[in-house]
Amino acid sequence: MSEKLTHKQLIGLANEFGTPLYVYHAEKIKAQFEILQHAFKSTNARFFYACKALSNINILKYMHQLGAGLDCVSINEVKLGLGAGFLPENILFTPNSVDFSEIQEAKEIGVNLNIDNISILEQFGNRYGNTYSICIRFNPHIMGGGNYKISTGHIDSKFGISVHQMRHIERIVKSTKLKVKGIHMHTGSDIKDVSVFLQGLEVMFDLARHFPDLSFIDLGSGFKVPYDHDDVTTDVELLGKKVGEAFHQYEKETGNKIEVWFEPGKYLVSEAGYFIVKANVIKQTTATVFVGVNSGFNHLIRPMFYEAYHHIENISNPKGSERIYTVVGNICETDTFAWDRKLNDVKEGDYLVFYNAGAYGFEMSSNYNSRFKPAEVLFKDGKTLLIRKREQFEDLFRNQIEVI
Ligand SMILES: *Cc1c(COP(=O)(O)O)cnc(C)c1O
Repeated sequence: MSEKLTHKQLIGLANEFGTPLYVYHAEKIKAQFEILQHAFKSTNARFFYACKALSNINILKYMHQLGAGLDCVSINEVKLGLGAGFLPENILFTPNSVDFSEIQEAKEIGVNLNIDNISILEQFGNRYGNTYSICIRFNPHIMGGGNYKISTGHIDSKFGISVHQMRHIERIVKSTKLKVKGIHMHTGSDIKDVSVFLQGLEVMFDLARHFPDLSFIDLGSGFKVPYDHDDVTTDVELLGKKVGEAFHQYEKETGNKIEVWFEPGKYLVSEAGYFIVKANVIKQTTATVFVGVNSGFNHLIRPMFYEAYHHIENISNPKGSERIYTVVGNICETDTFAWDRKLNDVKEGDYLVFYNAGAYGFEMSSNYNSRFKPAEVLFKDGKTLLIRKREQFEDLFRNQIEVI
């Protein structure tokens, strides 16, 4: 089965469910998962889907069926994961700046805990000692990722415990008898260069010798997917080979056989997602031709938030002559999706599709301007399944308390 939905299929979905509409293609998610499995077949690898990218319960269940684990950044994601059928041991909780009670709750549930702060490590050690093994998130001070906003492993980042605080960690571990079963790093998103991972892995192996109970090293995520036509993707085959070699070497030197964990988000769901909108208006100005669509950064914020590129096509008129457009939303604030974009001649009423809309699309949507969040559809085994209905007027009032 093809891994890409056709214009015709997308138009059919837009007509059936209305726009704006998020569509996810299950077979593409599966294909991406299988690429990872294949690339790391020479290692003891485990993949935990970072569900903040797209957390619809059906997507979680599908990931579970594929055999993935789940990476969660909030206790609510953990609970969604349990609801989707994940066992606690297949859930990894990697929070940042959360209250200690949230960590305790996760511990009671029995998930893998990733601790990214000295003060939490101390509290956890004091309270639980050697009764509950944990993982430590390190900040390796590596600059990885597409841009500063989505990089998390550099010196200014709030994430992880600095590798330079190893002495302090050792003091806490020793005096509280904490058991450290894993060490973790996640240096950011959109890492196209395999060497960034390998550099991080070297740092991790260096740290590993401090922890006798270690059973895994978690290299986080950041696998890049192509957004633009000539864009590159992380060479996961090469990475798998290199990581495999490094782990075999480590095993030979230390006699310890440990697992490698990853937490892909974007890699699994980005390309599986399509966001379909309708061109409401065309406006010719002295400077450009605007296409104003029936959506905005309330539904897809990545272009405005990260200067992210999303490929756009006019699926209603794919053979029309190409013109240069500025694609904007209908929000009362500047919300430009794309500048100077070549699109086949757009008429009012045409459907445009944004590609790579699976990750951090719907998930970051809001009700700004009192608009409804879009519907979500899953395309699976040739069938279309509505997995979230479009919001309605009552939804805007939900939780409001009218007191005057
Ligand atoms: C967001 C996040 C991920 C996923 O990152 P992607 O770039 O979407 O693959 C993985 N691990 C952690 C800890 C994260 O916060």
